[in-house]
Amino acid sequence: MHFHHHGYVSGDPRVQPAAGVGIDRPTQLPDEVDVLIVGTGPAGMLTAAQLSQFPGVTTRIVERRGGRLAIGQADGIQARSVETFQAFGFAERIIAEAYRITEMAFWKPDPADHSRIVRAARAVDDPAGISEFPHLIVNQARVLDYFAEFMANSPTRMAPDYGYEFRSLEVGEGKYPVTVTLLHTAGPLEGQERVVRAKYVVGADGARSKVRESIGCTLAGDQANHAWGVMDVLATTDFPDIRLKCAIQSGEGGSILLIPREGGHLFRMYVDLGEVNPSDKGAVRNTTIEQIIAKANDILHPYTLDVRNVAWHSVYEVGHRLTDRFDDVLPEEIGTRTPRVFITGDACHTHSAKAGQGMNVSMQDGFNLGWKLGHVLEGRSPEGLLSTYSAERQVIAKNLIDFDKEWSTLMAKKPEEFESPSELEDFYTSTAEFPAGFMTQYAPSMLIGEQAHQDLATGFTVGKRFKSAPVVRVCDTNPLQLGHQAKADGRWRIYVFADPSVAGSASPTNDLAEWLANAPDSPLAATPSGLDRDAWFDVKVIYQQEHTGIDISAVPAAFTPEVGPFRLTYLENVYGTGPAADIFELRGVARGGAVVVVRPDQYVANVLPLTATAELAAFFAPLLPTRKPEPARS
Ligand code: FAD
Repeated sequence: MHFHHHGYVSGDPRVQPAAGVGIDRPTQLPDEVDVLIVGTGPAGMLTAAQLSQFPGVTTRIVERRGGRLAIGQADGIQARSVETFQAFGFAERIIAEAYRITEMAFWKPDPADHSRIVRAARAVDDPAGISEFPHLIVNQARVLDYFAEFMANSPTRMAPDYGYEFRSLEVGEGKYPVTVTLLHTAGPLEGQERVVRAKYVVGADGARSKVRESIGCTLAGDQANHAWGVMDVLATTDFPDIRLKCAIQSGEGGSILLIPREGGHLFRMYVDLGEVNPSDKGAVRNTTIEQIIAKANDILHPYTLDVRNVAWHSVYEVGHRLTDRFDDVLPEEIGTRTPRVFITGDACHTHSAKAGQGMNVSMQDGFNLGWKLGHVLEGRSPEGLLSTYSAERQVIAKNLIDFDKEWSTLMAKKPEEFESPSELEDFYTSTAEFPAGFMTQYAPSMLIGEQAHQDLATGFTVGKRFKSAPVVRVCDTNPLQLGHQAKADGRWRIYVFADPSVAGSASPTNDLAEWLANAPDSPLAATPSGLDRDAWFDVKVIYQQEHTGIDISAVPAAFTPEVGPFRLTYLENVYGTGPAADIFELRGVARGGAVVVVRPDQYVANVLPLTATAELAAFFAPLLPTRKPEPARS
């Protein structure tokens, strides 16, 4: 954690000093805002939390409920989400309160007596060690609470504006081209309309999104929904795996997905209620909690469930659906204008609860979009950057829906329909990287380079998220995970994996450092004067030597920037390898060194040789403000 550089901080260092729009932030929703986010679900809250780090941007997030979500909705947190929470500073706390999935059990009809279920298999949740982060179960409400805390502690002092329902919007001209009509849903003004003008609007308003409707998008896909009776309950039972995630299939074809929950007692059951006939006019929604419990008991036979307390229950109906675009730019307008309205999360893709993806993929939509809005609004990047949101995320949602269809079809199969007895668990283990959230790979674009130099760092795949590995920080000899040093602060990251020369000697690493620090076409030169040199770019160096062999005073200035009003030297960006783990070895980094460029949302944007300064400059040129050419030297 980086603080004290502006003077002694005596309180909680997580509370960042208020800055920009966070100083005297109005408690009432203003008439004009830079970004208006609709909906405080995971997609909206992550977008808002990311934007809360941009003190020059007025962001407000409105919600029709009168207050925070208390209970219910999603609860599956994949490892990629925990990695994301780490960047927002609350991974450790949420891990401590969550249920951790390490194994899953598969229960099937007893071949000798189909009226009984037996445990048929167990599968380790992450057999290949895809991530150092765990797979968790914790209620959506707690995730939202942590994001709310993060934004309240941020320089912009953001907080959701509860009690406003989005009604409609129109995109016109001017400084604030999007006119949004809201309705007060609580308080003394309940029932009255309110108009807010915005530069950009983010529809994070869930599956029945009105923002989606207002930009003429429709969700296409399954004709019918699938329904589950969902209950979060406290119960006594003789079912032995009640504290394990289980897929349970009975001989009669009924199935349950059992999800143990945080706190040691609570668990969730998804009891399959089957396909919903579109003509039944919502009859399935009348399924009572008593009927859900009775069906659960039938499926669990010979075991029984005595429910003592129902914390939450719902009939969750959903189909696989997707919109063809995630913003308001029509196909025929692509290239002629940039978007003003975006949709994220369930507003643009819906899928079953069985793969536990809804909350996770929605948060990644927000992570993708938030920094882009911040960069454009603070003048760090041209507006064209915003077109990459729909282009990148729509295809990810499509892949997810394809995966989810395969998984839910398998889970719905009757035992006699499986091609092999272990088909279900084999699929679960062989595809583990997908549900863990690590299969996302963005295609080449203005934000993602070609894989021309991928061989220089085979473990940092261009387009995939930066996979952490252990290093040792030189200045204080602390063993750390390199990826965990990247915070959700909206900065680009340039990781310089040094050549074998020692720090400070004439070498390609030193030449690159000199170029980064001083060349007019270095991306760092775009940082406005008056800001610290590391305000837009976080540059880290990783030497091949063990930390004891690195002379910190010989490390080039590009890696030890002067920061804050006292011009203090920041020493914490210099790393060596550890005695137990060599990051060069673990991530296939060439011994000649490499540059790995990582986006603010943690995706690898480029891998280049240490000498490729022209390519590095060319990569960043379209992403940074236009700079005046240097006057020719005589
Ligand atoms: P949401 O979490 O749906 O958030 C949308 C937010 O927008 C809500 O807070 C809503 O109140 C607000 N909103 C909607 N319309 C407006 C408007 N016009 N104006 C202002 N605010 C508005 N997933 C599971 O995996 N398992 C489950 O059991 C499960 N149950 C669910 C039950 C319900 C009732 C709902 C709504 C969703 C459920 N989900 C479940 C889905 C899961 O919660 C979502 O996939 C995930 O939360 C997606 O996040 P999101 O931010 O896109 O949308």
